[in-house]
Amino acid sequence: MESTTDQVINYIGGSWQKPESGTDLAVMNPATAEQIATVSLSQKEDVKKAVEVADEAFHGWRRTPVTKRIQYLFHFKNLLEDHIEELAKVITNECGKTFNESVGEIRRGIENVENACGMPTLMQGINNEDIASGIDEHMIRQPLGVVTAITPFNFPAMIPLWFLPYAVASGNCFILKPSEKVPMSAQYIFKLLDQVGLPEGVVQLVNGDKTAVDELLENPAVKAISFVGSSGVARQIYSKGTAHGKRVQAQGGAKNMVVVLPDAEMNMTTRIVGDSAFGCAGQRCLANSLAITVGDAKKPFTEAISEKAANLKVGYGLNQGTEMGPVITSESRQRVEGFIETGTKEGGKILVDGRSKKVDEFEGGNWSFPTIIDDISPDSSIAKTEIFGPLFGLMHVDTVDDAIALINSQAYGNMACLFTSSGAAARQFRYEANAGNIGINIGVAAPMAYYPFSGWKESFFGDLHAQGHHAVEFYTQTKVVVERWIRDWDRVF
Ligand code: NAD
Repeated sequence: MESTTDQVINYIGGSWQKPESGTDLAVMNPATAEQIATVSLSQKEDVKKAVEVADEAFHGWRRTPVTKRIQYLFHFKNLLEDHIEELAKVITNECGKTFNESVGEIRRGIENVENACGMPTLMQGINNEDIASGIDEHMIRQPLGVVTAITPFNFPAMIPLWFLPYAVASGNCFILKPSEKVPMSAQYIFKLLDQVGLPEGVVQLVNGDKTAVDELLENPAVKAISFVGSSGVARQIYSKGTAHGKRVQAQGGAKNMVVVLPDAEMNMTTRIVGDSAFGCAGQRCLANSLAITVGDAKKPFTEAISEKAANLKVGYGLNQGTEMGPVITSESRQRVEGFIETGTKEGGKILVDGRSKKVDEFEGGNWSFPTIIDDISPDSSIAKTEIFGPLFGLMHVDTVDDAIALINSQAYGNMACLFTSSGAAARQFRYEANAGNIGINIGVAAPMAYYPFSGWKESFFGDLHAQGHHAVEFYTQTKVVVERWIRDWDRVF
């Protein structure tokens, strides 16, 4: 087992800097319960410095041809590929997910670097010749300036890469404020970026908490904020950022329902839904957290998913054969246990109880084993609240219409999934379910890099999502030019 006591610090203007006025926070391995690093939290002055440096760098960076800008990203992609295993270990050690899950998230991050390498085409404008005789009109896309992303703990490598490559390729200077719970993955990524040789100030890493975020939200030189985290904070970031005149895209929490029809292929459904519910210990914004069975699907699905939950191998993510790691903190574990308690008080029946279990050799870890609660009432708090842990609820209805109505009564709209072999049911679901990411016989409908990550309702505040062409639009502003160049030839007409 690797043990390190790294000091995680900021990367500003091309050099590593300890915040001048910061305090330190321990970074823990959630499986081994060991302290693996210390992160120095930035204060307002530290953040101001990062913004100033980025603002200065912007003048040169926006003048760098896009074809040259993307060469740094090609280099970055190769470095990520070369270091994928090392970075995956860092993720597992600070975040808890299994090694394979860590590799998977880096792959999805790399996809975004690759996609952003298409920026010469992606940020092309449009034009018309002769909108009137001898007059042409063009729309060009220009970068915004200093942009920033504030990211959550659960995908410490992938989520920063939803933003950084597009921001930089389109000519902006970028500041990342990662989750203070998992700052080591971002530090690792920035060590790779340091080798890429980008001009100083184009990418910056600022560690910290609300204090650092508040400065980013208020600083007039910051033009755009990307946020991913819980809905309450997303809403606040959206309000405050837009009140300060910035573009904001704020992706929030989720409560993703999966509908299982009687004609679903039950083995496949159980395997996929189980992986979605318990993968990353249920700490994915695209985790299925509630199943709605329709009609006769109730019995076979309930039995099969309970068996799957009861037999998952929980443990330290770097150990071979581990299928599920710990939750991020002991507070998270207690919160999940609290919801199990609440669920039973609200009338739910526990089919698999994941409380009070330990993993041999790692007794101090934040272990929360898979739990299944049956007969959840649609009005209960566990049907409505994002739990963000391996607690899976079951509800049972008679028709697809009932199931869709339940989904649409939800406050969140991140994802909804359907398992069926009926094309007609699938079409109805795709058409009527009020969620921005839909899975048909898919348990984690995570859009590829070239599609927007399309949360709706309380799962998203803003207009343009992360990834795909939305990212290009978010990081550029349009400029329209109408021009006339008179030549004698034109006067003829
Ligand atoms: P969080 O909201 O606690 O923190 C996210 C980021 O916001 C961190 O960088 C944190 O330092 C900062 N922050 C926290 N409180 C703040 C405040 N009051 N003011 C300013 N900044 C603040 O989220 P988390 O626990 O790190 O991550 C889990 C949440 O993220 C879940 O709700 C999950 O659904 C959500 N999530 C959403 C998506 C998505 O795409 N919709 C993806 C991943 C995670």
